[in-house]
Amino acid sequence: MSTQMEAPLHEAFVLGGESVVPGTQADIGLPITTMATGYSSQLAVRVLHGAKPGPTVFVSGAIHGDEIIGTAIIQRIANVLSPEEMSGTLMLVPVANIFGFLSHTSYLPDRRDLNRSFPGNAKGSLAGQVANVFFSEIVSKASLGIDIHAAAVHRYNLPQIRIAAGNKNLVELAMAFGAPVIIESPLRDGSLRAIAEKHDVEMLLLETGEALRFDRFSIEAGVAGVQRVLAYMGMIEADDGLAEVSVPARSNKTQWVRSPRGGVTHRMRKSGDAVRKGDLLAAVAGLFGEDPEEIVSPIDGIIIGHATLPVVHQGDALFHIASVAHPERVGARIESLADAIYASEPEGFAETLLDEDEVL
Ligand SMILES: [Zn+2]
Repeated sequence: MSTQMEAPLHEAFVLGGESVVPGTQADIGLPITTMATGYSSQLAVRVLHGAKPGPTVFVSGAIHGDEIIGTAIIQRIANVLSPEEMSGTLMLVPVANIFGFLSHTSYLPDRRDLNRSFPGNAKGSLAGQVANVFFSEIVSKASLGIDIHAAAVHRYNLPQIRIAAGNKNLVELAMAFGAPVIIESPLRDGSLRAIAEKHDVEMLLLETGEALRFDRFSIEAGVAGVQRVLAYMGMIEADDGLAEVSVPARSNKTQWVRSPRGGVTHRMRKSGDAVRKGDLLAAVAGLFGEDPEEIVSPIDGIIIGHATLPVVHQGDALFHIASVAHPERVGARIESLADAIYASEPEGFAETLLDEDEVL
């Protein structure tokens, strides 16, 4: 009998009845349901099964069908990784809510929110059926998931990682991702993060950019962050052209700033800016510019989201601000991060970090 430890057996990865041998990749369509047209629909998954054994991770986008920034990030990830050089298994789901994606909407044709429908049910509503396939075939096979979201239409989010509060391992993974801000927040019932936690699957949620739009800052931050997490997990080489990352700011308190009146806003500040309590954020006035009301920051912090549409009703959310220590230091870091991304841009493709059109 040999006393030598045997190398762990590295088997084919099986998904939806298809086998993916080590060191290869495959695109697999998981059957979901039959639609009104009578045709069946499928969830598209790319499996990259590494040559060497390791953890199983999934990256998903568009669980809200119009939040397509994750689709762009996943396309780039799919392009730069090769399973021959990987350890472990990566499942890429560019569009989780295939129905909302088709109609450019957040929810499903049954008007349900996929991210409140987990774990789902094969005999349930349309949302329940998608949630069931996504959860049982993808989430439950992984030890870590990265789910990518964007702000709603006419809103922009600074790249930020959201994690469950009080989980040390998640904080380390979020630090490895290296988005400018980490927000620790409670989990919501029926959400992917809540059901994942129940099944011991670690989840990072990336919020970045705007629904139905692509922006270079979000895509670059997302692609680099996913790669840094995979390197941290030992799935890819850490020195694969990954830039040094500065330490993200952490926050467990955020606040919305709403418009005090209906009218037209002129925004002075944007996502990524450091603000102090009392700093002017925007002014909102009537149709002739009359009776302007100033909107000031209620706290010291960093702007992590803002409305891009200047037409507002009273009570509309205009800014989302995270309370952080040393806001100016965080703001300067975000600015240099953005500068680095745009410095690498080929001539003619230059683009500002965020639209400055409305800035007075
Ligand atoms: Zn979302």
